Amino acid sequence: MRISDPKIVAALPDLGVELRPGVSMTEHTSLGIGGTTDLLRIVRHAHLPELIDLLGAAGIPHRFLGGGTNVLIPDGELPWVVLQLVRPQPDVRLEGNFALVDAAADLGRMVTYCAKNNLGGMEGLIGVPGTVGGALRMNAGAYGTQIGPLVREVEVHRAATRRIETLRGSQINFEYRHTSFAPDDIMLTVQLELPSKPFREILEGIRICNEKRRASQPLNQKSAGCIFKNPPGGSAGRMIDQLGLKGHHVGDARVSDRHANFFINAGHASAADMLSLIAEVRERVRRAYGVDLEEEVIVWKG
Ligand SMILES: Cc1cc2nc3c(=O)[nH]c(=O)nc-3n(C[C@H](O)[C@H](O)[C@H](O)COP(=O)(O)OP(=O)(O)OC[C@H]3O[C@@H](n4cnc5c(N)ncnc54)[C@H](O)[C@@H]3O)c2cc1C
Repeated sequence: MRISDPKIVAALPDLGVELRPGVSMTEHTSLGIGGTTDLLRIVRHAHLPELIDLLGAAGIPHRFLGGGTNVLIPDGELPWVVLQLVRPQPDVRLEGNFALVDAAADLGRMVTYCAKNNLGGMEGLIGVPGTVGGALRMNAGAYGTQIGPLVREVEVHRAATRRIETLRGSQINFEYRHTSFAPDDIMLTVQLELPSKPFREILEGIRICNEKRRASQPLNQKSAGCIFKNPPGGSAGRMIDQLGLKGHHVGDARVSDRHANFFINAGHASAADMLSLIAEVRERVRRAYGVDLEEEVIVWKG
């Protein structure tokens, strides 16, 4: 979608927004898939309520993008503009056991920065790509760690009130790859409470998690991590593997040979290819095991 009204284009700089017209989402997603649209980069988020009002009044729908590592965006000209926060400097501030982190901060860099300051508890999150905001939305986790329980406060633009509000961690429900935020809420900053630990101990935890990840995941290929959530008590990857589907493909969308729950873009896969592969694998699992797999990847739909 293109913003064609010159009055809206002229208003954006005063709202702290940088307009990048006609951007291909292939450049902004770890899958390297996605159509074209105007990208609105939010340099200062204080005016976000006015921006959302302006877009709403003009009938311009929007979607929000973090690091683009857990989304499947459709092909072609997109029916939304895309908003993305620009990372400020500094993006992490520490006070005792609290870290105040900007949602646009890189999750991995935040984990290592805190580690260097003897704050741990996030070792399992190392190697999860993307932003802190994306991790909050997804309640990202790995190797026994999830970000949710570390959250003390979140500053969020709430879709319902169109205001920036502060929520306490206890007001937010964090579940397996799911949170109680409304789909259009936009996380802006988060305060995490982290346990003190010696740097060397944290580093050892990080090393172990990195090793496990390197041994099991196709890290040098384009993916969005796990495509499906694990069903209760089961493993989506194991079920797909047992059906002999590793390497199965639709066009260039392919089930990874390394990890059957990672679907990769092996060349020039389209969103349509990836969606067909997802539908086919889900149906094969349903027929074989009677389990209806739920997507972990966020599929942007009209
Ligand atoms: C190689 C690889 C390994 C991975 N391993 C793991 C893993 O071990 N564990 C795990 O949990 N995930 C994993 N993932 C998935 C992904 O990295 C995480 O879900 C990550 O937290 C997504 O962050 P992001 O900034 O890229 O979000 P995006 O992909 O940009 O967005 C995901 C969703 O969050 C929303 N969102 C993003 N930022 C905000 C914000 N500030 N406010 C409101 N909504 C927002 C978007 O609108 C979208 O709906 C992996 C991905 C890859 C490619």
